[in-house]
Amino acid sequence: MDHTGYVLSGMSFLLVLPAIMLVTVFLDLEHVGGDAETIILKSDTASTAVKDLEANIPGIAAEVLRDEASNTLKTGKPLPNSRKTIKEAIRGRMDQKTLEYQNSDLKVECDIISVDTSQDPFQVEVKSSFRVEKGQVVHQENLTQEISITDPLYPLIDPIPFIKCKDYGGAEIKGNRTFYGNSLKNYLKTRGVENADQYENASSSLFIKKCPYDPYIMHGDFGFVSLKNCIENGYFHESSDGACFLCRLEGKSTCPHYGMETFIVPSEFFNSTSISAPSSIDHVIFNDTPPGDGTYPGRVFEYYSDGKNYFKIFLDNSHRLKYGIPTF
Ligand SMILES: [Zn+2]
Ligand SMILES: [Zn+2]
Repeated sequence: MDHTGYVLSGMSFLLVLPAIMLVTVFLDLEHVGGDAETIILKSDTASTAVKDLEANIPGIAAEVLRDEASNTLKTGKPLPNSRKTIKEAIRGRMDQKTLEYQNSDLKVECDIISVDTSQDPFQVEVKSSFRVEKGQVVHQENLTQEISITDPLYPLIDPIPFIKCKDYGGAEIKGNRTFYGNSLKNYLKTRGVENADQYENASSSLFIKKCPYDPYIMHGDFGFVSLKNCIENGYFHESSDGACFLCRLEGKSTCPHYGMETFIVPSEFFNSTSISAPSSIDHVIFNDTPPGDGTYPGRVFEYYSDGKNYFKIFLDNSHRLKYGIPTF
Protein backbone atom coordinates (compact mmCIF):
# COMPACT_ATOMS: atom_id res chain seq x y z
CA MET A 1 0.00 0.00 0.00
CA ASP A 2 2.67 2.38 1.10
CA HIS A 3 4.76 1.54 -1.95
CA THR A 4 1.82 2.16 -4.35
CA GLY A 5 1.15 5.35 -2.56
CA TYR A 6 4.65 6.65 -3.31
CA VAL A 7 4.28 5.67 -6.94
CA LEU A 8 0.97 7.52 -7.15
CA SER A 9 2.27 10.66 -5.54
CA GLY A 10 5.30 10.50 -7.82
CA MET A 11 2.94 10.17 -10.80
CA SER A 12 0.67 12.97 -9.57
CA PHE A 13 3.71 15.16 -9.12
CA LEU A 14 4.62 14.54 -12.77
CA LEU A 15 1.01 15.32 -13.74
CA VAL A 16 0.91 18.48 -11.67
CA LEU A 17 4.36 19.64 -12.87
CA PRO A 18 3.15 21.30 -16.10
CA ALA A 19 0.52 23.13 -14.09
CA ILE A 20 3.17 24.38 -11.64
CA MET A 21 5.34 25.50 -14.56
CA LEU A 22 2.43 27.34 -16.15
CA VAL A 23 1.62 29.12 -12.90
CA THR A 24 5.27 30.13 -12.59
CA VAL A 25 5.23 31.52 -16.11
CA PHE A 26 2.04 33.43 -15.33
CA LEU A 27 3.51 34.77 -12.12
CA ASP A 28 6.52 35.92 -14.08
CA LEU A 29 4.35 37.55 -16.71
CA GLU A 30 2.38 39.32 -14.05
CA HIS A 31 5.63 40.50 -12.54
CA VAL A 32 6.84 41.87 -15.87
CA GLY A 33 3.44 43.45 -16.54
CA GLY A 34 3.44 45.06 -13.12
CA ASP A 35 6.85 46.62 -13.64
CA ALA A 36 5.95 48.06 -17.00
CA GLU A 37 2.80 49.55 -15.56
CA THR A 38 4.71 51.23 -12.74
CA ILE A 39 7.09 52.87 -15.23
CA ILE A 40 4.18 54.20 -17.30
CA LEU A 41 2.47 55.51 -14.18
CA LYS A 42 5.64 57.27 -13.06
CA SER A 43 6.26 58.99 -16.40
CA ASP A 44 2.56 59.91 -16.55
CA THR A 45 2.92 61.91 -13.32
CA ALA A 46 5.99 63.62 -14.74
CA SER A 47 4.40 64.45 -18.08
CA THR A 48 1.20 65.62 -16.35
CA ALA A 49 3.33 68.02 -14.30
CA VAL A 50 4.96 69.33 -17.50
CA LYS A 51 1.57 69.71 -19.21
CA ASP A 52 0.20 71.59 -16.18
CA LEU A 53 3.18 73.95 -16.16
CA GLU A 54 3.05 74.49 -19.92
CA ALA A 55 -0.60 75.42 -19.69
CA ASN A 56 0.31 78.30 -17.35
CA ILE A 57 2.65 80.05 -19.79
CA PRO A 58 0.11 81.73 -22.14
CA GLY A 59 -1.76 83.36 -19.24
CA ILE A 60 1.41 84.39 -17.41
CA ALA A 61 3.00 85.76 -20.60
CA ALA A 62 -0.16 87.74 -21.42
CA GLU A 63 -0.18 89.16 -17.87
CA VAL A 64 3.48 90.17 -18.12
CA LEU A 65 2.97 91.85 -21.52
CA ARG A 66 -0.05 93.73 -20.19
CA ASP A 67 1.83 94.85 -17.05
CA GLU A 68 4.89 96.00 -19.00
CA ALA A 69 2.72 97.98 -21.45
CA SER A 70 0.86 99.64 -18.55
CA ASN A 71 4.14 100.52 -16.82
CA THR A 72 5.47 102.10 -19.99
CA LEU A 73 2.28 104.16 -20.23
CA LYS A 74 2.68 105.39 -16.65
CA THR A 75 6.36 106.26 -16.87
CA GLY A 76 6.61 107.21 -20.55
CA LYS A 77 9.96 105.43 -20.47
CA PRO A 78 10.75 102.80 -23.10
CA LEU A 79 12.18 99.44 -22.03
CA PRO A 80 15.86 99.16 -23.03
CA ASN A 81 15.43 95.47 -23.94
CA SER A 82 11.79 94.36 -23.91
CA ARG A 83 12.56 90.76 -24.86
CA LYS A 84 14.92 90.33 -21.91
CA THR A 85 12.63 92.12 -19.43
CA ILE A 86 9.62 90.05 -20.44
CA LYS A 87 11.58 86.79 -20.51
CA GLU A 88 12.84 87.40 -16.97
CA ALA A 89 9.40 88.41 -15.69
CA ILE A 90 7.80 85.25 -17.13
CA ARG A 91 10.64 83.17 -15.67
CA GLY A 92 10.08 84.72 -12.23
CA ARG A 93 6.37 83.95 -12.28
CA MET A 94 6.99 80.39 -13.54
CA ASP A 95 9.48 79.87 -10.70
CA GLN A 96 6.58 80.53 -8.31
CA LYS A 97 4.58 77.85 -10.13
CA THR A 98 7.34 75.25 -9.87
CA LEU A 99 7.58 75.97 -6.13
CA GLU A 100 4.17 74.30 -5.82
CA TYR A 101 5.95 70.99 -6.49
CA GLN A 102 8.68 71.40 -3.88
CA ASN A 103 6.98 69.14 -1.30
CA SER A 104 6.09 66.45 -3.85
CA ASP A 105 8.31 63.59 -5.02
CA LEU A 106 8.82 65.44 -8.32
CA LYS A 107 11.86 67.55 -9.09
CA VAL A 108 10.60 70.25 -11.44
CA GLU A 109 12.60 72.76 -13.48
CA CYS A 110 11.29 75.31 -15.97
CA ASP A 111 13.36 77.72 -18.02
CA ILE A 112 12.13 80.47 -20.33
CA ILE A 113 14.64 80.36 -23.17
CA SER A 114 13.47 83.32 -25.25
CA VAL A 115 10.70 85.84 -25.90
CA ASP A 116 10.57 87.24 -29.42
CA THR A 117 8.46 88.67 -32.22
CA SER A 118 6.31 86.04 -33.89
CA GLN A 119 5.68 85.62 -37.64
CA ASP A 120 2.17 86.90 -36.83
CA PRO A 121 2.45 90.49 -35.51
CA PHE A 122 -0.58 89.85 -33.26
CA GLN A 123 1.36 87.17 -31.39
CA VAL A 124 4.53 86.97 -29.31
CA GLU A 125 6.66 83.83 -29.36
CA VAL A 126 7.77 82.24 -26.07
CA LYS A 127 10.24 79.36 -26.03
CA SER A 128 10.61 77.29 -22.86
CA SER A 129 12.09 74.05 -21.60
CA PHE A 130 10.88 71.73 -18.85
CA ARG A 131 12.54 68.95 -16.89
CA VAL A 132 10.67 66.80 -14.41
CA GLU A 133 12.37 64.04 -12.45
CA LYS A 134 10.63 61.33 -10.47
CA GLY A 135 12.93 58.61 -9.16
CA GLN A 136 14.57 57.07 -12.21
CA VAL A 137 12.20 58.66 -14.67
CA VAL A 138 13.09 61.93 -16.34
CA HIS A 139 10.71 63.81 -18.58
CA GLN A 140 12.16 66.60 -20.69
CA GLU A 141 10.41 68.84 -23.15
CA ASN A 142 11.16 71.95 -25.23
CA LEU A 143 8.23 74.08 -26.22
CA THR A 144 7.40 77.02 -28.52
CA GLN A 145 4.15 78.86 -27.82
CA GLU A 146 2.58 81.73 -29.78
CA ILE A 147 0.91 84.09 -27.30
CA SER A 148 -1.96 86.24 -28.57
CA ILE A 149 -1.59 89.97 -27.88
CA THR A 150 -5.24 90.66 -28.72
CA ASP A 151 -6.86 88.52 -26.00
CA PRO A 152 -9.73 90.66 -24.60
CA LEU A 153 -8.96 89.22 -21.14
CA TYR A 154 -5.53 90.88 -21.25
CA PRO A 155 -5.99 94.08 -23.28
CA LEU A 156 -2.65 95.56 -24.27
CA ILE A 157 -2.07 99.30 -24.42
CA ASP A 158 -0.13 100.69 -27.36
CA PRO A 159 2.76 102.36 -25.50
CA ILE A 160 4.15 104.41 -28.43
CA PRO A 161 1.98 107.58 -28.04
CA PHE A 162 2.87 107.81 -24.32
CA ILE A 163 6.59 107.36 -24.95
CA LYS A 164 6.79 109.74 -27.93
CA CYS A 165 4.63 112.51 -26.45
CA LYS A 166 5.95 112.36 -22.88
CA ASP A 167 8.13 115.47 -23.19
CA TYR A 168 5.56 117.46 -25.18
CA GLY A 169 2.70 117.62 -22.68
CA GLY A 170 1.84 113.93 -22.73
CA ALA A 171 -1.04 111.92 -24.14
CA GLU A 172 -4.04 111.02 -21.99
CA ILE A 173 -6.66 108.30 -21.85
CA LYS A 174 -10.36 108.93 -22.43
CA GLY A 175 -12.44 105.76 -22.57
CA ASN A 176 -10.72 103.38 -24.93
CA ARG A 177 -8.88 106.09 -26.88
CA THR A 178 -5.62 107.97 -26.53
CA PHE A 179 -6.06 111.75 -26.78
CA TYR A 180 -3.08 113.89 -27.65
CA GLY A 181 -4.29 117.38 -26.72
CA ASN A 182 -1.44 119.66 -27.84
CA SER A 183 1.30 117.08 -27.34
CA LEU A 184 1.32 115.49 -30.81
CA LYS A 185 1.21 118.90 -32.51
CA ASN A 186 4.12 120.08 -30.33
CA TYR A 187 6.09 116.90 -30.95
CA LEU A 188 5.71 117.30 -34.74
CA LYS A 189 6.42 121.06 -34.63
CA THR A 190 9.62 120.52 -32.66
CA ARG A 191 10.77 118.18 -35.41
CA GLY A 192 9.94 120.84 -38.04
CA VAL A 193 7.16 118.78 -39.66
CA GLU A 194 4.81 120.86 -41.83
CA ASN A 195 1.13 121.33 -40.97
CA ALA A 196 1.59 119.90 -37.50
CA ASP A 197 -1.42 122.01 -36.39
CA GLN A 198 -3.75 119.51 -38.05
CA TYR A 199 -2.98 117.12 -35.19
CA GLU A 200 -4.16 119.35 -32.37
CA ASN A 201 -6.59 117.24 -30.27
CA ALA A 202 -5.95 114.20 -32.47
CA SER A 203 -6.67 110.72 -31.12
CA SER A 204 -5.82 107.07 -31.72
CA SER A 205 -6.66 103.66 -30.30
CA LEU A 206 -5.59 102.94 -26.72
CA PHE A 207 -5.70 99.15 -27.02
CA ILE A 208 -4.27 96.84 -29.65
CA LYS A 209 -7.14 95.17 -31.50
CA LYS A 210 -6.94 93.24 -34.73
CA CYS A 211 -8.94 94.73 -37.62
CA PRO A 212 -11.61 92.36 -38.95
CA TYR A 213 -11.85 94.22 -42.30
CA ASP A 214 -9.50 91.83 -44.03
CA PRO A 215 -8.50 92.04 -46.89
CA TYR A 216 -7.83 95.65 -45.97
CA ILE A 217 -9.14 96.97 -49.28
CA MET A 218 -12.60 96.39 -47.71
CA HIS A 219 -12.14 99.63 -45.72
CA GLY A 220 -13.44 101.41 -48.82
CA ASP A 221 -16.71 99.42 -48.77
CA PHE A 222 -20.18 100.85 -48.07
CA GLY A 223 -19.16 104.44 -48.73
CA PHE A 224 -16.19 104.13 -46.29
CA VAL A 225 -18.47 103.07 -43.40
CA SER A 226 -16.00 100.20 -42.85
CA LEU A 227 -13.17 102.72 -42.53
CA LYS A 228 -15.24 104.77 -40.04
CA ASN A 229 -16.02 101.64 -37.99
CA CYS A 230 -12.36 100.60 -38.08
CA ILE A 231 -11.23 103.99 -36.78
CA GLU A 232 -13.95 104.20 -34.11
CA ASN A 233 -13.11 100.71 -32.87
CA GLY A 234 -9.39 101.47 -32.85
CA TYR A 235 -8.21 98.57 -34.95
CA PHE A 236 -4.63 97.72 -35.88
CA HIS A 237 -3.41 96.30 -39.20
CA GLU A 238 -0.51 94.15 -40.26
CA SER A 239 2.31 96.25 -41.70
CA SER A 240 5.88 95.61 -42.77
CA ASP A 241 6.75 99.24 -41.94
CA GLY A 242 4.99 99.57 -38.55
CA ALA A 243 6.68 98.32 -35.38
CA CYS A 244 5.95 94.99 -33.73
CA PHE A 245 4.64 95.05 -30.16
CA LEU A 246 7.97 94.21 -28.50
CA CYS A 247 9.73 97.03 -30.37
CA ARG A 248 6.86 99.41 -29.47
CA LEU A 249 7.71 98.74 -25.81
CA GLU A 250 11.23 99.93 -26.65
CA GLY A 251 9.81 103.18 -28.05
CA LYS A 252 10.36 102.27 -31.71
CA SER A 253 7.67 103.20 -34.22
CA THR A 254 9.34 101.21 -36.99
CA CYS A 255 11.46 98.06 -36.78
CA PRO A 256 12.88 95.33 -39.00
CA HIS A 257 10.15 92.84 -37.97
CA TYR A 258 6.78 92.36 -39.61
CA GLY A 259 4.62 94.63 -37.42
CA MET A 260 1.42 96.68 -37.07
CA GLU A 261 -0.01 100.09 -37.88
CA THR A 262 -3.06 102.07 -36.79
CA PHE A 263 -4.70 105.38 -37.75
CA ILE A 264 -4.10 108.60 -35.82
CA VAL A 265 -7.05 110.82 -36.65
CA PRO A 266 -7.37 114.61 -36.47
CA SER A 267 -10.21 115.99 -34.34
CA GLU A 268 -13.56 115.84 -36.14
CA PHE A 269 -14.49 119.22 -34.60
CA PHE A 270 -11.69 120.91 -36.53
CA ASN A 271 -13.01 122.02 -39.94
CA SER A 272 -9.70 122.95 -41.52
CA THR A 273 -9.14 123.73 -45.16
CA SER A 274 -5.68 122.24 -45.19
CA ILE A 275 -5.34 119.61 -47.89
CA SER A 276 -1.95 118.31 -46.77
CA ALA A 277 -0.56 117.11 -43.42
CA PRO A 278 1.49 114.18 -42.10
CA SER A 279 -0.05 110.89 -43.25
CA SER A 280 -2.40 109.66 -40.49
CA ILE A 281 -0.59 106.36 -39.92
CA ASP A 282 1.16 105.93 -36.57
CA HIS A 283 4.52 104.73 -37.93
CA VAL A 284 4.60 107.70 -40.37
CA ILE A 285 3.78 110.28 -37.70
CA PHE A 286 6.16 108.84 -35.10
CA ASN A 287 9.05 108.07 -37.43
CA ASP A 288 11.67 110.32 -35.83
CA THR A 289 14.49 107.84 -36.24
CA PRO A 290 17.65 109.75 -37.12
CA PRO A 291 19.10 110.55 -39.56
CA GLY A 292 16.49 112.54 -41.46
CA ASP A 293 12.79 112.76 -41.02
CA GLY A 294 10.70 109.67 -41.73
CA THR A 295 7.39 111.55 -41.51
CA TYR A 296 5.85 112.21 -44.92
CA PRO A 297 2.67 114.01 -45.94
CA GLY A 298 -0.69 112.68 -47.08
CA ARG A 299 -3.64 114.38 -48.76
CA VAL A 300 -6.89 114.99 -46.91
CA PHE A 301 -9.70 112.45 -47.26
CA GLU A 302 -13.06 113.14 -45.62
CA TYR A 303 -14.69 109.77 -44.96
CA TYR A 304 -17.78 111.11 -43.19
CA SER A 305 -19.46 114.43 -42.40
CA ASP A 306 -22.79 115.38 -40.88
CA GLY A 307 -22.33 119.10 -41.53
CA LYS A 308 -21.06 119.72 -37.97
CA ASN A 309 -18.34 117.13 -37.59
CA TYR A 310 -15.72 116.46 -40.22
CA PHE A 311 -14.23 112.97 -40.05
CA LYS A 312 -11.05 113.08 -42.07
CA ILE A 313 -7.64 111.59 -42.37
CA PHE A 314 -4.57 112.50 -44.38
CA LEU A 315 -3.25 109.62 -46.44
CA ASP A 316 -0.44 109.01 -48.91
CA ASN A 317 -1.17 106.98 -52.01
CA SER A 318 0.42 103.73 -50.90
CA HIS A 319 -1.76 103.61 -47.76
CA ARG A 320 -4.79 104.66 -49.86
CA LEU A 321 -4.19 101.65 -52.09
CA LYS A 322 -3.82 99.37 -49.07
CA TYR A 323 -7.16 100.49 -47.55
CA GLY A 324 -9.25 100.84 -50.72
CA ILE A 325 -9.33 104.65 -50.70
CA PRO A 326 -9.14 106.60 -54.00
CA THR A 327 -5.63 107.83 -54.81
CA PHE A 328 -4.77 111.39 -55.84
ZN1 LIG B 1 -9.07 98.48 -40.17
ZN1 LIG C 1 10.11 94.76 -33.98
